[in-house]
Amino acid sequence: MNCINGLLEEKCRSIDAGEIKVIIFPEIPLWFVVDKKGLSIIKTITEQIDLEKDSFDLADPKFSNPSPPSPRGYIKWVKKKINELRSNVISPPFSERFDSLVLEITDTCNLRCPHCYVESASSKHNNLSSEDILRAIREAYEIGIRNISLTGGEIFTRSDIFEILDQIYAISKDMRLYLYTNGTLLTENMFRQMNFKQKLKLIISLDGSSPEIHNRIRGKNSFERTIRSIELAREFNYPVVLQCTIFSHNINDYKNLIEFAEKLGVEKLIFNPLQMLGRLRKNVKLKPSVHELARLDENIERFVKSRCEKNPFNVKVYGPLHWARTRMCYTGRWIRCSSHPSIHIFQDGSISFCQFYRNLSKKLNIKKISLAKAISSWEFTRIKKLNVVDHIYACQSCTFKYICGGGCRGIANHYGKNFFDPDPTCQDYKRAFVLLMVCSAKYSKSPHNLTLRAYTSELA
Ligand code: SF4
Ligand code: SF4
Repeated sequence: MNCINGLLEEKCRSIDAGEIKVIIFPEIPLWFVVDKKGLSIIKTITEQIDLEKDSFDLADPKFSNPSPPSPRGYIKWVKKKINELRSNVISPPFSERFDSLVLEITDTCNLRCPHCYVESASSKHNNLSSEDILRAIREAYEIGIRNISLTGGEIFTRSDIFEILDQIYAISKDMRLYLYTNGTLLTENMFRQMNFKQKLKLIISLDGSSPEIHNRIRGKNSFERTIRSIELAREFNYPVVLQCTIFSHNINDYKNLIEFAEKLGVEKLIFNPLQMLGRLRKNVKLKPSVHELARLDENIERFVKSRCEKNPFNVKVYGPLHWARTRMCYTGRWIRCSSHPSIHIFQDGSISFCQFYRNLSKKLNIKKISLAKAISSWEFTRIKKLNVVDHIYACQSCTFKYICGGGCRGIANHYGKNFFDPDPTCQDYKRAFVLLMVCSAKYSKSPHNLTLRAYTSELA
């Protein structure tokens, strides 16, 4: 038994995922996948592995293993691989610097999408005043922020939007401005008024490659108007990022949409998962399952790879689980919900670190306090400085705690009573992480793949 010293001295857990098992060291955190035979070999040399109660029903991938190798050779190889993996675990340093400011400047919108987390509508009229917007931006500039996002509602419902844009430009010409829009209100004249060129990027919602798919969410005639805006933006040389929210009805449209995005000449296409907030709570049927999202994520990756082999294209495409991939590749203790280097201001002036976390404190409002004071206040920093997951009772024994970081605190706060309540969408995170881990095992070159198949292919 001495031969195992140094191999698996950390406590680890194994999650049953069909043909293969995911082994996770929660405290490091480090993970890899093995097949049944590999697990039985590892188990002969350690009793440190707990079998998790959770098991994930995964139809694929299937592994056909060659005849078992000698346990001694396999264990030596696993040990080498774990050491390699361990040396790659990164803990990105926590930075108290902020690099972006997001302003929700209105909750008015000409559309009424069934998933809108702001619950925007044409009947709503809560606007952040232009004085508050410009003061916040001026203060953000003074503390070194150069990325400003304006979002809503629909920002182009505001009659003073071009005055605001001109005045932002007057504050500084070196700020990057991101305008989030549904693209249905923009006209050629309006593009002429947006005198910003290189500094401005449009982030436009497009939920399908055809009117039938897109309009089902955004409403009649939206598709044509949005496409016209994208074309105009390209004619006027504004970079465009498309955001596609994933619903059950558009989940199979990804190939068409990627090809369409390429034709439209946009810079990026981001597939976004839905959040259980706002109007979606009454329309939960629109939400695909995590299994469907994970499959889509993988299909997108496969499609982009095969398509680029034949004919490389310029659009950067991000699948719906890119957030989980990012966390998994950092797998450091500093990854947590509140670690974005971003400040968010809502239509009522309240200041937070995230669009999902409202009501951080009544005191933190741009009408009452400067941005610099707000972000150095106890109310703001106590949350930024906490390694949040260590303070959530429900997460303490979770296998994924330092991969997940404790879920979304905004959703937890929304459904619960306070910041430290459990995130009710937690099972989705677990499934997403396991599915991504298992998918990566399909490729024998993945450093996390310690299946016998990878072992024998490396020896061959
Ligand atoms: S276009 Fe955006 S802001 Fe308007 S209702 Fe739809 S999701 Fe909400
Ligand atoms: S939110 Fe869920 S998956 Fe994330 S750390 Fe907490 S218990 Fe684990």
